[in-house]
Amino acid sequence: MASLLVVEDEPHIASGLRFNLEAEGHDVEVVETGEAALDVVEARGSSLDAIVLDVMLPGIDGFEVAATLRERGHFVPILMLTARGRAQDVLQGFAAGADDYLPKPFDLAILVARVHALLRRRQWHQAGAQADTTPPDRFTFAGRTVDFEAQQIRVGNRVHPLTLMEANLLRYLIEREGRVVSRKSILEDVWNLREDTDTRAIDHFIARLRKYIEDVPSQPRHVLTVRSVGYRFVAEPED
Ligand code: CA
Repeated sequence: MASLLVVEDEPHIASGLRFNLEAEGHDVEVVETGEAALDVVEARGSSLDAIVLDVMLPGIDGFEVAATLRERGHFVPILMLTARGRAQDVLQGFAAGADDYLPKPFDLAILVARVHALLRRRQWHQAGAQADTTPPDRFTFAGRTVDFEAQQIRVGNRVHPLTLMEANLLRYLIEREGRVVSRKSILEDVWNLREDTDTRAIDHFIARLRKYIEDVPSQPRHVLTVRSVGYRFVAEPED
């Protein structure tokens, strides 16, 4: 059972979401505005397992809610509900810190599956980190330390929080250090492949990781682009 927050102002959609998620055994709180969502997250903090967040809301919109949560250091997974056919919404959603998205109108069964995928990835992400028998779930390279448990990367004195998907993508690249990783395999393994996902969304995540990791993001030395294929992570580049 997970503790979920649904942010949706259209009553029939909100009640459908509540009904279906509760039927799966989850604890569901519904709010109608972004402002109320921010209050709930402030009050409940890490007891929330995931948020289903509509983009179009009265008052502040879903993008602003996601961006504000990330700014405030809340890294609960967010599934964003976007308008169908608006690639711009998807990119803006990822930019704001969403972990996944689903275009409206959606099939409730698919929504439930997506929420479960987010919850599984969160568990997987935390599992390796918290088992007593394993060393701290950190990776250090070239003066940078990624802490997967705390979902952050430290570079010198600066600490950048990571969203779940940023952390998962970085882990995926690090585990394949020195190897070329295709966009297709990232879509399949990190994003759970969907045909409607714009591959530019991956590029956007890579750009964010570079901003955290690279001295000069436009001239990356660790997260390299392999033209027309994908990416390659290099821990200690040779000069
Ligand atoms: Ca709405």
